[in-house]
Amino acid sequence: MKAIVKDEPAPGLSLKERPFPQIGDKDLLIKIQKTAICGTDIHLYKWDEWASNTLPVGSIIGHEFLGVVEKVGKDVKGFKEGDRVSGEGHLTCGICRYCLTGQRVLCPNTKGVGVNGDGCFAEYLALPAENAFKMPDKIPDEIATIFDPLGNVVHTALSFDLVGKDVLITGAGPIGLMAIAVAKHAGACNVVISDLNPYRLELAKKFKPTAVVNLKQESVADVAKGLNINSTGFDVCLEMSGSPQALESLGDLTAHGGKIVILGLLPSYAPINWHQVIFKMITIKGIYGREIFNTWFQALHMLQSGLDVSPVITHTFPALEFQKGFDMMLSGNSGKVILDWTI
Ligand SMILES: [Zn+2]
Ligand SMILES: [Zn+2]
Repeated sequence: MKAIVKDEPAPGLSLKERPFPQIGDKDLLIKIQKTAICGTDIHLYKWDEWASNTLPVGSIIGHEFLGVVEKVGKDVKGFKEGDRVSGEGHLTCGICRYCLTGQRVLCPNTKGVGVNGDGCFAEYLALPAENAFKMPDKIPDEIATIFDPLGNVVHTALSFDLVGKDVLITGAGPIGLMAIAVAKHAGACNVVISDLNPYRLELAKKFKPTAVVNLKQESVADVAKGLNINSTGFDVCLEMSGSPQALESLGDLTAHGGKIVILGLLPSYAPINWHQVIFKMITIKGIYGREIFNTWFQALHMLQSGLDVSPVITHTFPALEFQKGFDMMLSGNSGKVILDWTI
């Protein structure tokens, strides 16, 4: 089968022929239809320090997909050939304290599909059935393909009550963009998003936030003065940029009693004014992955009740032209990029 592989310990990816994956008794063989390029895949493409310490050279990358079940392991229940599925890319151990208490998201033995081993940027993927998620027919292919990042957004945004709350999103990458839609759907009052990238801020307007802040031209504080912010700042701040400057700004911008939820991958050490955190009684929460499968059902049910994240998908390429997709992502002038394995 054809697969997109990190073939050498250097930047870039190659299209290679690989044997069809073998499945175990508890696995599904999934024929891949569509995949999406994640920020994680960009790290793997660039082969930065994190990537070179994480992905074994020779691995197929990719973890965001939609496919159809082609073969079912003999011990699998609840799936059959022809089922349309996406899946959770975090493979959990099943035997630790967290797995045994229904908190797979906290499993310390988690391995990532396409991150610690072979992934889904290929014609076929073998996946444990306990990681597969059946997609209702009404969810369009492209949206079904991005359930993993949408799940990150939902996990982050719904960490705290948003009803009637003022929400600041720092970072207008695909995750931040979808967060506008999720926050509004969840009942937020003002939703403000900030970034430096004019393309992404323009794209953000399609999600109709209360305000879009170009940090090159204005500050969030100045823009917030013109809004009817209810309190001394934003009730809930969603950090989705990974920028230390963004995190530092949240000390000032977060309201008394406010919440800061961090999904963006910051450097290991990044400053924040701890006096503001303490005296304003700010709660800070880090987010990793998705609650399996609570987050998946929350995302599905919001889509079924009108959530629209479709403007985040800006480009589709045939999978064999994956380089164009990666170039588009690397340019910064894109939302989500889909690779289609059916054309
Ligand atoms: Zn991802
Ligand atoms: Zn575990």
